[in-house]
Amino acid sequence: MVLWGVFVLGMESVIERVLITEEEILARLDVVAAEVMAELGDAEELVVVALLKGALVFVADMSRRMPVPLVMECVNVASYHGGLESSGEVKFLDAGMPDVRGKKVVVMDDILDTGLTMHAVLRELMEAGAERVWSCVLLSKRKERAVECEADWVCFEIDDEFVVGYGLDFEGRYRNLPYVGVLRIKN
Ligand code: 5GP
Ligand code: MG
Repeated sequence: MVLWGVFVLGMESVIERVLITEEEILARLDVVAAEVMAELGDAEELVVVALLKGALVFVADMSRRMPVPLVMECVNVASYHGGLESSGEVKFLDAGMPDVRGKKVVVMDDILDTGLTMHAVLRELMEAGAERVWSCVLLSKRKERAVECEADWVCFEIDDEFVVGYGLDFEGRYRNLPYVGVLRIKN
């Protein structure tokens, strides 16, 4: 805790304010993971697909709250390419899609913004033969989406501002902050 204090102090020009604390995140995950289990806990073959890299921390904490023999897969997509705004193009960085034929699949991502990423991934997984696909996100920005796409489970709704931490990065950094914070935009 002290170490993080020092880290954040050292980075204080980067985090404008903490939006969601670690305690708030973990308490909410308890609730949402229980909701996912109520819906899918009896699935014979449940696959959790993490969208790298942003969903890494979220999926690690969510999946450990889902006490069933699920299969964890990763898909590597990118739509931001290091900047602050979506490029509008969703790139699949790895050629391979996990084997989801006939399986129930929950896609987990850090944040729903334009909706383009989730929309593209859900479509790909259905085309790959999944029986049914659900979506679960840590954050959802209150804004109009570029495509029609809302998640089945949202842990927190936030305003339309750029956030980092708990898996979310800015130019590859700050994913390991244990909370979600608003990035200070330098003028
Ligand atoms: P979408 O395709 O819905 O526009 O964007 C989803 C992806 O964009 C997320 O998986 C995330 O990687 C990135 N993204 C969207 N909003 C933010 C944000 O506020 N902060 C960070 N760090 N990444 C974001
Ligand atoms: Mg992402």
